[in-house]
Amino acid sequence: MAVRSHAPEKAKVLRNARLATFAENAQGIGIVEGGAVGIVDGRIAFAGPQSEIPSELAVAEQVDCEGRWITPGLIDCHTHLVYAGNRANEFEMRLAGASYEEVARAGGGIVSSVKALRSASEEELITQALPRLSTLMAEGVTTVEMKSGYGLDLENERKTLRVARRLGEINPVSIRTTFLGAHAVPPEANRDKDAYIAKVADEMLPALAAEGLADAVDGFCENLAFSPQQIERVFNKASELGLPVKLHADQLSDLGGAALAARYGALSADHLEYTSEDGAKSMARAATVAVLLPGAYYFIRETQRPPVDLFRKHGVRIALATDCNPGTSPLTSLLLTMNMAATLFSMTVEECLAGVTREAARALGLLGETGTLETGKWADLAIWDIERPAELVYRMGFNPLHARIWRGQ
Ligand SMILES: [Zn+2]
Repeated sequence: MAVRSHAPEKAKVLRNARLATFAENAQGIGIVEGGAVGIVDGRIAFAGPQSEIPSELAVAEQVDCEGRWITPGLIDCHTHLVYAGNRANEFEMRLAGASYEEVARAGGGIVSSVKALRSASEEELITQALPRLSTLMAEGVTTVEMKSGYGLDLENERKTLRVARRLGEINPVSIRTTFLGAHAVPPEANRDKDAYIAKVADEMLPALAAEGLADAVDGFCENLAFSPQQIERVFNKASELGLPVKLHADQLSDLGGAALAARYGALSADHLEYTSEDGAKSMARAATVAVLLPGAYYFIRETQRPPVDLFRKHGVRIALATDCNPGTSPLTSLLLTMNMAATLFSMTVEECLAGVTREAARALGLLGETGTLETGKWADLAIWDIERPAELVYRMGFNPLHARIWRGQ
């Protein structure tokens, strides 16, 4: 490694690397052999063949990557990472043969996560979320989306979103927050979904938006959660407030959630196991990203696969995420998520890798800032000890990360 003095402040060049840029106009994953990435003030100043490094970067600190691969930092675009306790006891009960009713009678289900979150302080939530976030980051993750949805009242939804913001302040990682008040009906609502949704749309959402705590708004459209009409009520308010929307759609049945999300120009519709061809077409027209969550599919032993072929046919972009949550996807590995998407959903290596970089950035509305190795974006990078990018999808339970760089650091 050659370090020269008189370098421009905070400038650095990573040389002797192989790049997978994921640039939109590139072929495939945008491979550059003998590549280099120039970083100035936390942003990518150059990414391409090292023979073309601009002269102003020649005096910057030079780092020899010894032929390693550099990809964009990974992005987990759908998590419920801020939660309290866990539901290992339910998992154990169900494996021992207990029915859903028996688990519910024993105090299990989403209500147990709501109770646990409500009784936890902000500090406790941070302490419990940190190991999960660190595990993601240790695999090269530089951006994480975090949803609320276990608070289900203003005070506790606010607490969740504040914790998510704090996690981003105390860690070198970008956090995007999503308000998911329309996740489940809280116990005190006595099953009155309409009354609860009115509270979500008219009280909680405006308050949290005014406090700048929500980057986006999400809902759970399903028979066991909320109807399309109830979701519309929340989305109308989000639109009024200028907040982008996303939707847990068509996970267990086809309620037309994908088309509903598309009607509101949603950044993404997520899960999508039961999405119809019309739903896929609507998403394509609205440029709504399909976020697939193979961890949840695997954990609940779903057998209906999301219609990947229809998404390909109609040109719907596909992203992948962990859906990290205590009930249906206690998963904190995007590498394993890619392997699951390949084996369970027959996605290609290129689709899997793009799904946790460029397309995940698109699903968060952040493609202008991160997700590819292109000049002007944040220098969010992962450097890997691998011979070919397919290894990132192929292996299970192995982490070949050499270094992670977030905003140039
Ligand atoms: Zn989810």
